[in-house]
Amino acid sequence: MSKRDYYEVLGVSKSASQDEIKKAYRKLSKQYHPDINKEPDADVKFKEIAEAYEVLSDDNKRAQYDQFGHEAPGGGFGGGGFSGFGGFEDIFSSFFGGGSSRRSDPNAPRKGDDLQYRMNISFEDAVFGKQTEIEIPTEESCGTCNGSGAKPGTSPKTCSSCNGSGQINQTVETPFGRMVNRKTCGTCRGTGKIIVEKCSTCHGAGAVHKRKKIKVTIPAGVDDGQQLRVSGQGEPGKNGGPAGDLYILFNVREHEYFERDGDDIYYELKLTFPQASLGDEIEIPTVHGKVKLKIPAGTQSGEKFRIKDKGVKNVHGYGQGHQYVIVKVVTPTKLTEKQKQLLRDFAEISGDIPEEQGSSLFDRIKKTLKGD
Ligand SMILES: [Zn+2]
Ligand SMILES: [Zn+2]
Repeated sequence: MSKRDYYEVLGVSKSASQDEIKKAYRKLSKQYHPDINKEPDADVKFKEIAEAYEVLSDDNKRAQYDQFGHEAPGGGFGGGGFSGFGGFEDIFSSFFGGGSSRRSDPNAPRKGDDLQYRMNISFEDAVFGKQTEIEIPTEESCGTCNGSGAKPGTSPKTCSSCNGSGQINQTVETPFGRMVNRKTCGTCRGTGKIIVEKCSTCHGAGAVHKRKKIKVTIPAGVDDGQQLRVSGQGEPGKNGGPAGDLYILFNVREHEYFERDGDDIYYELKLTFPQASLGDEIEIPTVHGKVKLKIPAGTQSGEKFRIKDKGVKNVHGYGQGHQYVIVKVVTPTKLTEKQKQLLRDFAEISGDIPEEQGSSLFDRIKKTLKGD
Protein backbone atom coordinates (compact mmCIF):
# COMPACT_ATOMS: atom_id res chain seq x y z
CA MET A 1 0.00 0.00 0.00
CA SER A 2 1.68 3.22 -1.07
CA LYS A 3 1.10 6.33 0.98
CA ARG A 4 -0.90 9.17 -0.50
CA ASP A 5 0.52 12.64 -0.66
CA TYR A 6 -0.54 14.61 2.44
CA TYR A 7 -1.62 17.62 0.38
CA GLU A 8 -3.73 15.33 -1.77
CA VAL A 9 -5.27 13.72 1.33
CA LEU A 10 -6.44 17.11 2.61
CA GLY A 11 -7.27 18.37 -0.88
CA VAL A 12 -5.17 21.53 -0.55
CA SER A 13 -2.42 23.02 -2.71
CA LYS A 14 1.27 22.87 -1.77
CA SER A 15 1.15 26.59 -1.02
CA ALA A 16 -1.94 26.37 1.20
CA SER A 17 -1.97 28.60 4.28
CA GLN A 18 -2.30 27.17 7.80
CA ASP A 19 -5.84 28.51 7.78
CA GLU A 20 -6.76 26.59 4.63
CA ILE A 21 -5.17 23.43 6.02
CA LYS A 22 -7.09 23.73 9.26
CA LYS A 23 -10.37 24.31 7.42
CA ALA A 24 -9.83 21.32 5.11
CA TYR A 25 -8.96 19.14 8.09
CA ARG A 26 -12.05 20.16 10.07
CA LYS A 27 -14.34 19.44 7.16
CA LEU A 28 -12.81 16.05 6.28
CA SER A 29 -12.41 14.81 9.84
CA LYS A 30 -16.10 15.48 10.43
CA GLN A 31 -17.02 13.70 7.22
CA TYR A 32 -14.95 10.59 7.96
CA HIS A 33 -15.28 10.37 11.71
CA PRO A 34 -15.87 6.64 12.41
CA ASP A 35 -18.72 7.51 14.78
CA ILE A 36 -20.57 9.29 11.99
CA ASN A 37 -19.39 7.62 8.80
CA LYS A 38 -20.28 3.95 8.70
CA GLU A 39 -18.39 3.06 5.54
CA PRO A 40 -15.96 0.22 6.31
CA ASP A 41 -12.91 2.23 5.35
CA ALA A 42 -13.98 5.46 7.06
CA ASP A 43 -11.61 5.01 9.98
CA VAL A 44 -8.69 4.29 7.69
CA LYS A 45 -9.44 7.55 5.86
CA PHE A 46 -9.90 9.30 9.17
CA LYS A 47 -6.48 8.17 10.31
CA GLU A 48 -4.94 9.22 7.02
CA ILE A 49 -6.49 12.66 7.38
CA ALA A 50 -5.32 13.02 10.98
CA GLU A 51 -1.81 11.98 10.02
CA ALA A 52 -1.68 14.45 7.12
CA TYR A 53 -2.91 17.22 9.39
CA GLU A 54 -0.42 16.38 12.11
CA VAL A 55 2.42 16.94 9.67
CA LEU A 56 1.12 19.84 7.57
CA SER A 57 -0.11 21.86 10.56
CA ASP A 58 3.38 21.90 12.04
CA ASP A 59 5.70 24.24 10.12
CA ASN A 60 8.82 22.23 10.94
CA LYS A 61 7.33 18.89 10.03
CA ARG A 62 5.81 20.39 6.92
CA ALA A 63 9.16 21.76 5.75
CA GLN A 64 10.73 18.35 6.33
CA TYR A 65 7.91 16.65 4.47
CA ASP A 66 8.21 19.07 1.53
CA GLN A 67 11.88 18.22 1.31
CA PHE A 68 11.94 14.50 2.00
CA GLY A 69 8.38 13.30 1.44
CA HIS A 70 7.19 10.34 3.46
CA GLU A 71 10.74 9.19 4.08
CA ALA A 72 11.37 12.21 6.26
CA PRO A 73 14.01 11.84 8.98
CA GLY A 74 13.18 11.97 12.63
CA GLY A 75 11.13 8.84 12.82
CA GLY A 76 8.95 9.11 9.77
CA PHE A 77 5.44 10.33 10.20
CA GLY A 78 2.39 8.90 11.78
CA GLY A 79 2.55 6.11 14.24
CA GLY A 80 -0.25 3.63 14.57
CA GLY A 81 0.33 1.98 11.23
CA PHE A 82 0.15 -1.74 10.78
CA SER A 83 3.55 -2.19 12.29
CA GLY A 84 5.93 0.05 14.10
CA PHE A 85 8.84 1.69 12.38
CA GLY A 86 11.15 0.51 15.10
CA GLY A 87 14.77 1.30 14.50
CA PHE A 88 14.04 3.97 11.95
CA GLU A 89 14.33 6.80 14.40
CA ASP A 90 17.61 5.63 15.78
CA ILE A 91 19.32 5.56 12.43
CA PHE A 92 18.14 8.99 11.43
CA SER A 93 18.69 10.70 14.71
CA SER A 94 22.36 9.77 14.62
CA PHE A 95 22.65 11.03 11.04
CA PHE A 96 21.02 14.31 11.84
CA GLY A 97 22.80 15.00 15.05
CA GLY A 98 20.07 13.98 17.41
CA GLY A 99 18.07 16.77 18.89
CA SER A 100 14.98 14.78 18.15
CA SER A 101 12.69 14.86 21.11
CA ARG A 102 10.17 12.65 19.36
CA ARG A 103 11.06 9.53 21.27
CA SER A 104 8.88 9.77 24.27
CA ASP A 105 9.29 8.37 27.73
CA PRO A 106 9.66 4.57 27.48
CA ASN A 107 7.38 4.19 30.49
CA ALA A 108 4.51 6.21 29.01
CA PRO A 109 1.37 4.28 28.00
CA ARG A 110 1.38 3.34 24.34
CA LYS A 111 -1.45 2.07 22.14
CA GLY A 112 -0.90 -1.44 20.77
CA ASP A 113 -0.29 -2.00 17.07
CA ASP A 114 -3.16 -2.61 14.69
CA LEU A 115 -3.45 -6.03 13.14
CA GLN A 116 -4.74 -7.01 9.76
CA TYR A 117 -6.36 -10.34 9.02
CA ARG A 118 -7.18 -11.51 5.51
CA MET A 119 -10.36 -13.52 5.41
CA ASN A 120 -11.39 -15.63 2.44
CA ILE A 121 -15.14 -15.86 2.10
CA SER A 122 -17.53 -17.37 -0.43
CA PHE A 123 -19.54 -15.34 -2.92
CA GLU A 124 -22.75 -16.21 -1.06
CA ASP A 125 -21.39 -15.30 2.39
CA ALA A 126 -20.43 -11.88 1.02
CA VAL A 127 -23.94 -11.44 -0.35
CA PHE A 128 -25.88 -12.62 2.69
CA GLY A 129 -23.42 -12.05 5.54
CA LYS A 130 -22.61 -14.61 8.22
CA GLN A 131 -21.63 -15.05 11.83
CA THR A 132 -18.29 -16.73 12.10
CA GLU A 133 -15.29 -17.11 14.33
CA ILE A 134 -11.62 -16.60 13.57
CA GLU A 135 -8.50 -17.49 15.44
CA ILE A 136 -5.63 -15.03 15.48
CA PRO A 137 -2.19 -15.20 17.00
CA THR A 138 -1.77 -12.67 19.72
CA GLU A 139 0.53 -11.58 22.48
CA GLU A 140 -1.02 -11.37 25.88
CA SER A 141 0.35 -9.74 28.94
CA CYS A 142 1.99 -12.50 30.99
CA GLY A 143 -0.23 -13.49 33.89
CA THR A 144 2.60 -14.77 36.08
CA CYS A 145 4.46 -11.45 36.26
CA ASN A 146 1.60 -9.10 35.26
CA GLY A 147 3.59 -8.04 32.22
CA SER A 148 6.65 -6.80 34.09
CA GLY A 149 8.88 -9.66 32.89
CA ALA A 150 10.34 -9.97 36.38
CA LYS A 151 10.05 -13.05 38.57
CA PRO A 152 7.09 -12.67 40.96
CA GLY A 153 8.25 -11.06 44.19
CA THR A 154 11.05 -9.17 42.44
CA SER A 155 10.79 -5.99 40.41
CA PRO A 156 12.80 -4.57 37.51
CA LYS A 157 15.61 -2.18 38.38
CA THR A 158 16.04 1.21 36.81
CA CYS A 159 18.74 0.96 34.14
CA SER A 160 21.89 2.61 35.41
CA SER A 161 23.34 3.32 31.94
CA CYS A 162 20.50 5.66 30.97
CA ASN A 163 18.96 6.38 34.37
CA GLY A 164 15.67 4.98 33.18
CA SER A 165 15.22 7.27 30.19
CA GLY A 166 15.91 4.52 27.65
CA GLN A 167 18.28 6.81 25.74
CA ILE A 168 21.86 7.87 26.01
CA ASN A 169 23.62 10.91 24.61
CA GLN A 170 26.86 10.35 22.79
CA THR A 171 29.23 13.18 22.04
CA VAL A 172 31.16 12.80 18.81
CA GLU A 173 33.94 15.04 17.52
CA THR A 174 33.54 15.66 13.80
CA PRO A 175 35.40 17.93 11.35
CA PHE A 176 32.43 20.29 11.68
CA GLY A 177 32.50 20.43 15.42
CA ARG A 178 31.10 18.55 18.34
CA MET A 179 27.84 16.70 17.78
CA VAL A 180 25.58 15.08 20.27
CA ASN A 181 23.88 11.92 19.16
CA ARG A 182 21.02 10.50 21.06
CA LYS A 183 20.79 6.71 20.89
CA THR A 184 18.63 4.01 22.29
CA CYS A 185 20.24 2.61 25.41
CA GLY A 186 21.87 -0.70 24.54
CA THR A 187 21.82 -1.98 28.10
CA CYS A 188 18.06 -1.91 28.52
CA ARG A 189 17.13 -1.72 24.80
CA GLY A 190 15.23 1.50 25.36
CA THR A 191 12.94 0.22 28.11
CA GLY A 192 14.73 2.08 30.90
CA LYS A 193 14.56 -1.04 33.07
CA ILE A 194 16.72 -4.05 33.78
CA ILE A 195 15.13 -7.31 34.79
CA VAL A 196 17.39 -8.98 37.31
CA GLU A 197 15.45 -12.19 37.86
CA LYS A 198 13.39 -13.14 34.84
CA CYS A 199 9.85 -14.49 35.06
CA SER A 200 10.01 -18.20 34.19
CA THR A 201 6.77 -18.15 32.19
CA CYS A 202 7.62 -15.41 29.68
CA HIS A 203 11.43 -15.42 30.10
CA GLY A 204 11.42 -11.70 30.76
CA ALA A 205 9.40 -10.65 27.73
CA GLY A 206 6.37 -9.68 29.82
CA ALA A 207 4.11 -11.18 27.16
CA VAL A 208 3.16 -14.68 26.04
CA HIS A 209 2.06 -15.90 22.58
CA LYS A 210 -1.45 -17.20 22.42
CA ARG A 211 -4.18 -17.76 19.90
CA LYS A 212 -7.44 -16.07 20.54
CA LYS A 213 -10.86 -16.66 19.06
CA ILE A 214 -12.86 -13.67 17.91
CA LYS A 215 -16.47 -13.64 16.77
CA VAL A 216 -16.85 -11.85 13.45
CA THR A 217 -20.02 -10.79 11.71
CA ILE A 218 -19.46 -10.66 7.97
CA PRO A 219 -21.71 -7.76 6.93
CA ALA A 220 -24.28 -8.68 4.27
CA GLY A 221 -23.29 -7.05 0.98
CA VAL A 222 -19.59 -6.72 1.74
CA ASP A 223 -17.41 -6.70 -1.37
CA ASP A 224 -13.96 -7.95 -2.22
CA GLY A 225 -11.24 -5.71 -0.75
CA GLN A 226 -13.41 -4.06 1.90
CA GLN A 227 -12.25 -3.91 5.51
CA LEU A 228 -14.02 -4.25 8.80
CA ARG A 229 -12.57 -2.80 11.97
CA VAL A 230 -12.90 -4.75 15.18
CA SER A 231 -12.05 -2.22 17.81
CA GLY A 232 -9.61 -3.17 20.58
CA GLN A 233 -8.68 -6.61 19.17
CA GLY A 234 -5.22 -5.69 17.91
CA GLU A 235 -1.95 -6.01 19.81
CA PRO A 236 -2.15 -5.19 23.51
CA GLY A 237 -1.00 -1.74 24.59
CA LYS A 238 2.25 -1.12 26.45
CA ASN A 239 2.47 0.27 29.96
CA GLY A 240 -1.28 0.26 30.39
CA GLY A 241 -2.08 1.85 27.00
CA PRO A 242 -5.15 0.73 25.03
CA ALA A 243 -5.03 -2.23 22.64
CA GLY A 244 -4.79 -1.64 18.89
CA ASP A 245 -7.55 -2.50 16.45
CA LEU A 246 -8.04 -5.52 14.25
CA TYR A 247 -8.80 -4.93 10.59
CA ILE A 248 -10.43 -7.77 8.71
CA LEU A 249 -9.83 -7.57 4.99
CA PHE A 250 -12.35 -9.57 2.98
CA ASN A 251 -11.24 -11.59 0.03
CA VAL A 252 -14.34 -12.79 -1.83
CA ARG A 253 -13.92 -15.96 -3.90
CA GLU A 254 -15.20 -16.02 -7.46
CA HIS A 255 -18.47 -17.71 -8.26
CA GLU A 256 -18.87 -20.46 -10.81
CA TYR A 257 -21.33 -18.48 -12.95
CA PHE A 258 -22.19 -15.21 -11.22
CA GLU A 259 -20.09 -12.11 -11.50
CA ARG A 260 -20.45 -9.14 -9.23
CA ASP A 261 -20.16 -5.45 -10.03
CA GLY A 262 -20.90 -3.37 -6.93
CA ASP A 263 -24.37 -4.41 -5.84
CA ASP A 264 -25.34 -5.84 -9.23
CA ILE A 265 -24.86 -9.43 -10.30
CA TYR A 266 -24.21 -10.50 -13.89
CA TYR A 267 -25.14 -13.83 -15.38
CA GLU A 268 -24.38 -15.05 -18.88
CA LEU A 269 -27.28 -16.88 -20.45
CA LYS A 270 -26.41 -19.22 -23.29
CA LEU A 271 -29.18 -19.57 -25.89
CA THR A 272 -29.41 -21.77 -28.93
CA PHE A 273 -30.13 -20.13 -32.24
CA PRO A 274 -33.73 -21.47 -32.31
CA GLN A 275 -34.36 -20.21 -28.74
CA ALA A 276 -33.06 -16.74 -29.58
CA SER A 277 -34.98 -16.65 -32.85
CA LEU A 278 -38.29 -18.02 -31.66
CA GLY A 279 -38.25 -16.79 -28.04
CA ASP A 280 -38.52 -18.90 -24.91
CA GLU A 281 -39.25 -18.84 -21.21
CA ILE A 282 -36.28 -19.86 -19.09
CA GLU A 283 -35.62 -20.40 -15.38
CA ILE A 284 -32.66 -18.25 -14.45
CA PRO A 285 -30.60 -18.90 -11.30
CA THR A 286 -30.19 -15.91 -8.96
CA VAL A 287 -28.63 -15.83 -5.50
CA HIS A 288 -32.20 -15.52 -4.20
CA GLY A 289 -33.47 -18.62 -6.05
CA LYS A 290 -34.72 -19.31 -9.56
CA VAL A 291 -36.67 -16.69 -11.50
CA LYS A 292 -38.60 -17.14 -14.78
CA LEU A 293 -37.45 -14.91 -17.61
CA LYS A 294 -39.26 -14.42 -20.91
CA ILE A 295 -36.92 -14.28 -23.88
CA PRO A 296 -38.61 -12.44 -26.74
CA ALA A 297 -38.41 -13.77 -30.29
CA GLY A 298 -35.50 -12.24 -32.21
CA THR A 299 -33.17 -11.78 -29.25
CA GLN A 300 -29.59 -10.93 -30.24
CA SER A 301 -26.32 -12.05 -28.72
CA GLY A 302 -25.18 -9.40 -26.20
CA GLU A 303 -28.69 -8.28 -25.30
CA LYS A 304 -29.19 -7.48 -21.62
CA PHE A 305 -32.19 -8.21 -19.41
CA ARG A 306 -32.69 -6.92 -15.91
CA ILE A 307 -34.19 -8.96 -13.10
CA LYS A 308 -35.12 -6.32 -10.57
CA ASP A 309 -33.89 -6.51 -6.96
CA LYS A 310 -32.19 -9.88 -7.39
CA GLY A 311 -28.73 -8.47 -6.77
CA VAL A 312 -26.90 -7.71 -3.52
CA LYS A 313 -28.28 -5.74 -0.61
CA ASN A 314 -26.12 -2.65 -0.21
CA VAL A 315 -23.68 -3.02 2.68
CA HIS A 316 -24.43 0.53 3.90
CA GLY A 317 -28.18 0.00 3.62
CA TYR A 318 -28.66 1.95 0.39
CA GLY A 319 -31.14 -0.30 -1.37
CA GLN A 320 -30.71 -3.44 -3.38
CA GLY A 321 -28.86 -4.28 -6.58
CA HIS A 322 -30.27 -6.09 -9.61
CA GLN A 323 -29.31 -9.12 -11.60
CA TYR A 324 -28.44 -8.60 -15.25
CA VAL A 325 -28.73 -11.41 -17.73
CA ILE A 326 -26.47 -11.12 -20.76
CA VAL A 327 -27.45 -13.26 -23.72
CA LYS A 328 -24.91 -15.28 -25.63
CA VAL A 329 -26.18 -17.09 -28.67
CA VAL A 330 -24.20 -20.25 -29.04
CA THR A 331 -23.28 -21.48 -32.49
CA PRO A 332 -23.41 -25.28 -32.69
CA THR A 333 -20.10 -26.94 -33.45
CA LYS A 334 -21.17 -30.52 -34.06
CA LEU A 335 -23.97 -31.03 -36.55
CA THR A 336 -25.58 -34.17 -37.86
CA GLU A 337 -26.21 -34.51 -41.57
CA LYS A 338 -29.90 -33.84 -41.02
CA GLN A 339 -29.19 -30.62 -39.08
CA LYS A 340 -26.83 -29.47 -41.81
CA GLN A 341 -29.46 -30.05 -44.47
CA LEU A 342 -32.06 -28.14 -42.45
CA LEU A 343 -29.67 -25.20 -42.09
CA ARG A 344 -28.91 -25.22 -45.81
CA ASP A 345 -32.62 -25.18 -46.51
CA PHE A 346 -33.02 -22.38 -44.01
CA ALA A 347 -30.25 -20.38 -45.63
CA GLU A 348 -31.74 -20.85 -49.04
CA ILE A 349 -35.07 -19.30 -48.13
CA SER A 350 -33.56 -16.56 -45.91
CA GLY A 351 -31.25 -14.46 -48.09
CA ASP A 352 -30.60 -12.00 -45.28
CA ILE A 353 -26.93 -11.14 -45.93
CA PRO A 354 -26.32 -7.38 -46.09
CA GLU A 355 -25.38 -6.07 -49.51
CA GLU A 356 -22.13 -4.40 -48.45
CA GLN A 357 -20.64 -7.79 -47.58
CA GLY A 358 -20.74 -8.80 -51.23
CA SER A 359 -20.94 -12.34 -52.37
CA SER A 360 -20.26 -15.03 -49.80
CA LEU A 361 -19.48 -18.63 -50.28
CA PHE A 362 -23.02 -19.25 -49.05
CA ASP A 363 -24.45 -17.11 -51.83
CA ARG A 364 -22.45 -18.98 -54.41
CA ILE A 365 -23.61 -22.33 -53.02
CA LYS A 366 -27.18 -21.07 -53.13
CA LYS A 367 -26.74 -19.99 -56.74
CA THR A 368 -25.25 -23.36 -57.63
CA LEU A 369 -28.12 -25.14 -55.95
CA LYS A 370 -30.61 -22.96 -57.85
CA GLY A 371 -28.66 -23.75 -61.02
CA ASP A 372 -28.00 -20.17 -62.25
ZN1 LIG B 1 19.09 1.91 29.78
ZN1 LIG C 1 6.09 -13.27 32.87
